[in-house]
Amino acid sequence: MEKEHLSPPTKIALDGPVACGKSAVGNLVARRLGFRFLDTGMMYRALTWLVLERGIDPEDEEKVNKLAGEVKMEVSAALPDSEEASRVSVDGQDATDFLVRPDVEAAVSLVSRLPAVREAMVRLQREIAESGEIVVAGRDIGTVVMPDADLKVYLDASRLERARRRYEQARLRGQSITLKSVLDELERRDGIDSARETSPLRAAGDAVVLPTDGLNPDQVVERILALAR
Ligand code: C5P
Repeated sequence: MEKEHLSPPTKIALDGPVACGKSAVGNLVARRLGFRFLDTGMMYRALTWLVLERGIDPEDEEKVNKLAGEVKMEVSAALPDSEEASRVSVDGQDATDFLVRPDVEAAVSLVSRLPAVREAMVRLQREIAESGEIVVAGRDIGTVVMPDADLKVYLDASRLERARRRYEQARLRGQSITLKSVLDELERRDGIDSARETSPLRAAGDAVVLPTDGLNPDQVVERILALAR
């Protein structure tokens, strides 16, 4: 008879489209379980920031690929017993404070679709996740980065609900934008992330798809913890 698998999950993959709540929910789930939390979007954003800093056109595949192959990225997964958020540096420069800049946001999906970029980022993500006890959030975690994850969750919500959440976050940061512009940007980014050839955004075949419309982050966290148990 086959032995029953009773050990708790130690690798949790959390995927989903723009503003589906992965970061907030992932962080809370990790804290509740005493796990580390890695938001892989930070890594793609940090590389994109460096591309822009260097004056490279994000559509210049050759230059972006070259930079991705050479760059030294250091990223710390957030620890459950520390209030300190994770930080990311590229070539010795801390990029954490620039990750939500509108120009970075506008270019990140263009940079992220390149295979050489993905290869470099996925390699680093696997190294960080290898020792387990981690929640990793992104677009291709269940499909590519951790196909062996013990639990895979794909968070989803309607475009309008996601745009409203993002709009509120931007307003709290003091950015003056309209809901329409947030909705347009979200659709553009989801479109590129879903249509790219290498590791497009999609739920893994063995992922639990969790619609989050009308749920607050705490309710989503409880559902994921119930699945983890
Ligand atoms: O999750 P976040 O919005 O910070 O991700 C920013 C962008 O980084 C995404 O729109 C996507 O282009 C890219 N990304 C990715 N694969 C991941 C995480 C993020 O392609 N695992």
